[in-house]
Amino acid sequence: MNIILLGPPGAGKGTQAAKLVSSRGMVQLSTGDMLREARTSGTEMGQKVAAIMDAGELVTDEIVIGLIREKLEGDTGGGFIFDGFPRTLGQADALEQLLSEMGQGLAAAIELRVNDEVLVDRIVNRAKEAAANGQPVRADDNAESLKVRLMEYYKKTSPLLGYYHAKGKLKAVDGLADIGEVESAIAQVLDNS
Ligand code: AMP
Repeated sequence: MNIILLGPPGAGKGTQAAKLVSSRGMVQLSTGDMLREARTSGTEMGQKVAAIMDAGELVTDEIVIGLIREKLEGDTGGGFIFDGFPRTLGQADALEQLLSEMGQGLAAAIELRVNDEVLVDRIVNRAKEAAANGQPVRADDNAESLKVRLMEYYKKTSPLLGYYHAKGKLKAVDGLADIGEVESAIAQVLDNS
């Protein structure tokens, strides 16, 4: 069973993906994590995307589709969780194509519904916690990049809500609820899909 977690930055996609990995043995595919890894290991692609990511803009479809294509060839586990991908209609079409080539499809696109004030608080807190624990703070977890990331979400990613609705795949859960409640709501979607 393959699913997409959809929602703006700070909606809780990564947190919920991690829960699904441990509870259901699903495989998390986060293009944000893959891109950060490419930067840390200093690949040519990593260097190319660094400034774009720090500014909060989206990297090209070609790059992220390439990353996802490679990972789909690996272990499918209990199904894939697409976290932070797709973020454009082009990426959504490419994902459908890639899955259909594997004889697979999507069970659901789960929207984590939140509001902007909460996102800003969550992201500021994420940065504070990382700093307090001596962990690296994401270069794009600052007010300026966040504004761009939110605008990118509304302009380029939010049309996916209509796209998946039209395909009968969109399920919304309240992303403002406690982490455990969101987890149960997602479990319910999966059990009914
Ligand atoms: P995330 O960790 O999902 O918030 O992603 C961090 C940054 O990586 C984004 O702000 C983009 O610059 C880039 N990125 C991650 N996933 C994608 C994607 N699917 N398409 C384009 N850019 C992406």
